[in-house]
Amino acid sequence: MTNQSNSRDVWVFIEQEEGVIADVSLELLAKAQELAGTLDSQVCGLMCGYQVEDLAETVIHHGADRVLWADHPELEMYRTLPYAKVTTKLVQEQQPYILIFGATAIGRDLAPRVASASRAGLTADCTDLQIGDYTSKKDKRTYNDLLLQIRPAFGGNIIATIINPKMHPQMATVREGVMRRQEPDVTRQGSVEKIEPTFDESDLALRILSRETRESEINLKDSPIIVSGGGGVDSEESFELVRELAHVLGGEVGASRAAVDAGLVSREHQVGQTGTTVRPRLYIAAGISGAVQHRAGMDESAKIIAINTDPNAPIFEIAHYKIVGDLTEVIPMMIRALREKAK
Ligand SMILES: Cc1cc2nc3c(=O)[nH]c(=O)nc-3n(C[C@H](O)[C@H](O)[C@H](O)COP(=O)(O)OP(=O)(O)OC[C@H]3O[C@@H](n4cnc5c(N)ncnc54)[C@H](O)[C@@H]3O)c2cc1C
Repeated sequence: MTNQSNSRDVWVFIEQEEGVIADVSLELLAKAQELAGTLDSQVCGLMCGYQVEDLAETVIHHGADRVLWADHPELEMYRTLPYAKVTTKLVQEQQPYILIFGATAIGRDLAPRVASASRAGLTADCTDLQIGDYTSKKDKRTYNDLLLQIRPAFGGNIIATIINPKMHPQMATVREGVMRRQEPDVTRQGSVEKIEPTFDESDLALRILSRETRESEINLKDSPIIVSGGGGVDSEESFELVRELAHVLGGEVGASRAAVDAGLVSREHQVGQTGTTVRPRLYIAAGISGAVQHRAGMDESAKIIAINTDPNAPIFEIAHYKIVGDLTEVIPMMIRALREKAK
């Protein structure tokens, strides 16, 4: 079975809420520009919403050559059925070569529906995307310029490269924070096509009666300084030291899954493969062994300081500054020194 498109264009689903574009969509536009450059094709931002035309310019400034904007009051807030209908219809009509989504709650809900309706493959939670060739061992056929969908597999112990040679569009969701966003280029020009979709009752079976939102208490992804505690932090009091150091440095509190599982800190603080991907100027890992799943979320930090009692802890392989010692002794010394310096 094949379902291959003639287009070479790279589409990005632009996620927006109340007129604010999700960071991950801007990150994906930068990646899409790189992929389209290799394919010698165009980047298209697909945006659903109601009266959000002002956002099209931002999408173009961040890398799109073209914006497809579906405008309808029923698209004002995300709902699976109307969004899936619009996206699937456009994909089937225009047959992009590649379609990527952020691996957000919305992307994870929408992308599988579109993939299933389009009979295309989908790789979830990619950490990288490249263009490359593949030769089938079975029939020796070579497929050029495929989307290489790269992600950790088998518990993060291997990095798998997944391809969809035959069923297009080649679709992937990509984790937030793993691609680098580009500075907007305000001189970039692009076209905007407005689409006015129609819906029937079955598309609107679900109604939103009210909506309550809560601001996240932390912003790990954008914090320049993160102090994380792990399984080596064995009590609430010791975790207070991690919080205090973060506070003195003006940073955020992060954690490994061991600390989250121990109930020392909430899940939104988790850094790693199943947590947030961060790239701060300074990352302090206290009592964290450096398991591959944790490293996947922080190994691109500009400077890493690790505090660990075990001189052979794997975290030291990537740390720029290595402190072998007990965090309950080392952290208070760091806090004292920083406070002294601030006087
Ligand atoms: C599919 C999958 C996804 C995962 N996703 C994530 C993820 O997103 N993020 C994540 O973090 N993990 C994740 N994990 C779990 C990961 O494999 C590790 O189990 C976890 O990272 C271990 O956390 P840790 O290093 O803090 O704890 P531990 O493995 O318990 O290590 C504790 C470290 O602290 C040191 N130590 C002990 N006492 C002290 C002390 N007093 N002072 C200083 N050092 C001390 C020890 O020497 C040790 O190195 C995932 C696992 C799987 C299978």
